Amino acid sequence: MAVDLAVEARERGIKYFLISYVDLFGTLRAKLAPAAAIGDMAKDGAGFAGFASWLDMTPADPDVLAIPDPASLIQLPWKPEVGWLAADPYMNGKPVAHAPRNILKRVTDKATQAGLTMKTGVECEFFLLTPDGTGISDATDTQAKPCYDQSALMRRYDVISEICDAMLDLGWQPYQNDHEDANGQFEMNWNFADALTTADRMAFFKYMVKAIAEKHGLRATFMPKPFANLTGSGCHVHVSLWQGDRNLFADGNDGIGLSKVAYNFIGGVMEAAGDICAITNPTINSYKRINAPVTLSGATWSPNTVTFAGNNRTHMIRVPGSGRFEFRLADGATNPYLLPAAILAAGLDGIARGIDPGKPLDIDMYTEGHKAPAGTKKLPLNLLDALRLTAKSDLLRRELGDEFVDSYVKLKMRDWDDYMRQLTPWERATTLDC
Ligand SMILES: [Mg+2]
Repeated sequence: MAVDLAVEARERGIKYFLISYVDLFGTLRAKLAPAAAIGDMAKDGAGFAGFASWLDMTPADPDVLAIPDPASLIQLPWKPEVGWLAADPYMNGKPVAHAPRNILKRVTDKATQAGLTMKTGVECEFFLLTPDGTGISDATDTQAKPCYDQSALMRRYDVISEICDAMLDLGWQPYQNDHEDANGQFEMNWNFADALTTADRMAFFKYMVKAIAEKHGLRATFMPKPFANLTGSGCHVHVSLWQGDRNLFADGNDGIGLSKVAYNFIGGVMEAAGDICAITNPTINSYKRINAPVTLSGATWSPNTVTFAGNNRTHMIRVPGSGRFEFRLADGATNPYLLPAAILAAGLDGIARGIDPGKPLDIDMYTEGHKAPAGTKKLPLNLLDALRLTAKSDLLRRELGDEFVDSYVKLKMRDWDDYMRQLTPWERATTLDC
């Protein structure tokens, strides 16, 4: 039965609703509406000037009306009088074709029509910094190999446990938290779900981590590479494809536990890796993570080549066990909705065309990359190269839409142009005496 938000507000003590959407650059935009007004807004949506956020619109365009999805309702665990709602942007009575949540729904609806559901679990790594964002908040967190360090983890117990308690209350079934490979870096894992549910949770998780960190006098960031000498923040995605209760990726007779459908799906993702890279790694800074030199800990933990393997973390795709794969390319800046939309579109294309990803490559890609077969593709070296691939991607134009590709590339290209206008200290140091 449809959720009546006015009733929910009365029964759960919600005084305000945040009606929010994620724009093309992954930023959450919201209006705070009193519960007394939710009846009309649930029907008609909350009004926004789309141009004022990262949507491809002009100041002359009519209102974007963000219509909340009642099924996405999350009561803020640290402020229960506020209910958060993911919303779908509409304009002139139609879904905005380039809005990220609308795109994911379009791609998942198409899969649903074929009887398929993609399930995803995401690992959103983040740093806890000083409030001004310049340094790691824990001055004693300086080890060369800080991963899983118990003392550093427990010095942030108050923040991490508050976030984990919130996920327990929300029923996300969190199951582990750790200090990650960079100083000041953490990861928290919760259970996988269908792609749209996980996308809504990821959008909320990023907000929740920042909000709870702020409460504790800290600043959380999901920036892909905030420190040049340390491991960056990835957003690894675990992917499986289901038909009802049956995991179509599982095959107990296969060496690494995958079915032909799974191999074809992986083949599609590998073929499209360049095309989707501007989505999975959407910022200038993203390319300083995937094309980084070795970090203080001894590894970048991020790929720069399009390869797959069994349980081997040096590849873009890892198969940690039967019935799923881990896509290790995406980073903390990736859009929660565009990421699964791109993966699903690429994977279904791989199935439709029976794309063979080849044999899993069991080498250490960080030290033995030269042993990869001839023709192994490299990932784009920077955002400009990635955007050029996205712009001419037939797959993305067909499955995510021309409107999306054109709008995304246009706005992101402005980012690149702005970046190129910056004069850096490195240029002066290396060019002054030319
Ligand atoms: Mg991790």
